[in-house]
Amino acid sequence: MSVRRVIVLGATGSIGESAAKVARDLPDRVQLTGLAAHQNAAGLAAQANEFRPAALCLVDESKLDDLRAALAPGYAPKILTGEAGLVELAASAAPADIVLIAIVGTGGLRPALAAIEAGRDLAVASKEILVMAGEVVMGRAAARSVRVLPVDSEHNAIFQCLEGRDPRTVKRLILTASGGPFRTASPETIASATRAQALKHPTWNMGAKISIDSATLFNKGLEMIEARWLFDVEMDRVEVVVHPQSIVHSMVEFVDGSVLAQLSHSDMCFPIQYAICWPERVPNRLPPLDFAELRTLDFEPPRRDVFPALDLAAHAGRTGGTMPAVMNAANEIAVAAFLADRIAFPRIWSLVEATMQVHQATLRASLEQILEADRWARQQASALL
Ligand code: MG
Repeated sequence: MSVRRVIVLGATGSIGESAAKVARDLPDRVQLTGLAAHQNAAGLAAQANEFRPAALCLVDESKLDDLRAALAPGYAPKILTGEAGLVELAASAAPADIVLIAIVGTGGLRPALAAIEAGRDLAVASKEILVMAGEVVMGRAAARSVRVLPVDSEHNAIFQCLEGRDPRTVKRLILTASGGPFRTASPETIASATRAQALKHPTWNMGAKISIDSATLFNKGLEMIEARWLFDVEMDRVEVVVHPQSIVHSMVEFVDGSVLAQLSHSDMCFPIQYAICWPERVPNRLPPLDFAELRTLDFEPPRRDVFPALDLAAHAGRTGGTMPAVMNAANEIAVAAFLADRIAFPRIWSLVEATMQVHQATLRASLEQILEADRWARQQASALL
């Protein structure tokens, strides 16, 4: 029985709070040795006072005094700040077996690469870093013999189904999608969707960006590309099926026609615990599935004509190179604009599509070329607004 020392980047977000729950549930198995937040000094201090990690990072320097004032008397962790502080925490500021990257958007990329260089395993919840730089991240991880453990529930499910099996025996990866709040909505309803409607996810409780991505199905599109890199399976063997109950988290079909699935309640504590404790299965206090109560699990094809995000993502994933980074960056700009009430809901799709259309993708791109494409796409999408 081993104790896993874990650094959490993005401690006060929805994934970070679930990671804290896992640590609270399994105090003999999970030790939080480093915590980082963007600007939520009070939330970071509350977790730090409870778990007493050796090092903290608050990216927003202007909130450092609030953090120091809120720490318990006699507790004096190493305190870092800024993007450089995140990188230092990921690589060296505290002892760790695994670094959980749970920062919204692409901010986790440099800390993730720093953790890999330091030989630390990664648990990745920030799908954006694998979408934009999956080839680079997985390549460097392989070179350093570092493991990249998926936290995203779908990929965690596939990881569980694939474990120990020859990758050549895989026929298809089948990602399940809840379908989001507009699964059965008419195109007219979707066209006039409000912020509140789009944020209201039927089965998962998540942050604003990922909730909007679930409503557009860009979340599933990003996950298709994420799966392509995590499991080294070409894009055309990654499929999506809508499953409104969010109980089957994803499936793998093998060459003999057998399909393996992973099921649990839709609570991120399940995949977070599995990634952190891997390869061990550890008893916990999470609620078990009750099939007599569940009774039905439904499946249906996604409405690709109403939700163009899936085809845009398939195109980006097939093209490869800098194209996924461009799709991801344009989507971040579009979601922010929608959340600020600057654009209508369907404009999220058309803005991403328009940005992708004018991009000349660089194939087998370097990290610098990917970051440049990311910057370009943000400017381009903002200009199109
Ligand atoms: Mg997911």
